[in-house]
Amino acid sequence: MSASPIQLSVVIPVYNEQANLPLLFSRLYPVLDALGRKYEVIFTNDGSADKSADLLRSQYAARPDVTRVIDFNSNYGQHMAIMAAFERVRGQVIVTLDADLQNPPEEIPKLIQLMDEGHDYVGGYRLARQDSIFRTVASKIINGVRRQTTNIEMTDQGCMLRSYSRAIIDAIVQSGAINTFIPALAYSFSGNPAEVGVKHEERHAGVSNYTFYKLIRLNFDLITGFSLAPLQYFTMFSMVCSAGSLILVAALLVRRFVLNLDRETFGVFTLFAILFFLLSVAMVGIGIIGEYVGRTYQVVRARQRYHVKEILETKQ
Ligand code: UDP
Ligand code: MG
Repeated sequence: MSASPIQLSVVIPVYNEQANLPLLFSRLYPVLDALGRKYEVIFTNDGSADKSADLLRSQYAARPDVTRVIDFNSNYGQHMAIMAAFERVRGQVIVTLDADLQNPPEEIPKLIQLMDEGHDYVGGYRLARQDSIFRTVASKIINGVRRQTTNIEMTDQGCMLRSYSRAIIDAIVQSGAINTFIPALAYSFSGNPAEVGVKHEERHAGVSNYTFYKLIRLNFDLITGFSLAPLQYFTMFSMVCSAGSLILVAALLVRRFVLNLDRETFGVFTLFAILFFLLSVAMVGIGIIGEYVGRTYQVVRARQRYHVKEILETKQ
């Protein structure tokens, strides 16, 4: 307890990271201590099934002055875990970091330096990315799609080593956004963003918690959460398709009745082909509309997005 304000909050989501936490603690805290600023580290235990909760508890016991632990009752996903911490940060600059040591804690001072220079948002991008070919290629494609459909400029959306000013974090919390992709949301609130290359290491232990399905969901969230482009592209596509099929039908009619051709082949099959095609177009459209309706539903329903079981922290 002291009068001077906390300068730095480090936010770390933790899901089944028992094999990584000890090394994370031993690398992270010295870096932060060396900064010579008042800081706090907020861990959110996102419903881990392993010993992560116990490890966090003992770390809290070891460094209660600078450690806070939010304990979810179950798994709500990395971004919810980060949001829960955002809602409680006390620092003026906020840094997010993964628990698996893929983002070396030693890179944090680089971000802080850029914040000191007056940027309100600093995004890291991974130099020499250490992930599977599949992940690397997939994220290249996704980055491209994002650039086309939203006006968010980001070299590497998947890198979670980022820092934000408190004003941006407060804006994110106030926006009450659902299915949030935090780096993109922060970017949209930022006035003076910067990027910096950061080292990337292989996951120290364990395997990625992201399944293919979770990645698809996350990126679908990103596109639909920040733009109406899918809807608009779809509408344009359907218009072109309708025009095309009209011409096709007209051509078929002309061949059959004016030129008196295709007497045998004209008929059911042609119509079915057109029908199937139009039907598939309609189905895609319904899916996209459903995504937006779903979002509206979630906002209207305003259900609590996560449930905190326990918070370990010292009062300020
Ligand atoms: N994480 C989380 N909840 C989840 C999945 C992941 O809090 O449901 C945390 C995880 O502990 C790690 C970070 O989010 O600190 C990134 O997860 P991961 O390393 O699995 O993702 P990747 O690096 O493969 O993108
Ligand atoms: Mg990782």
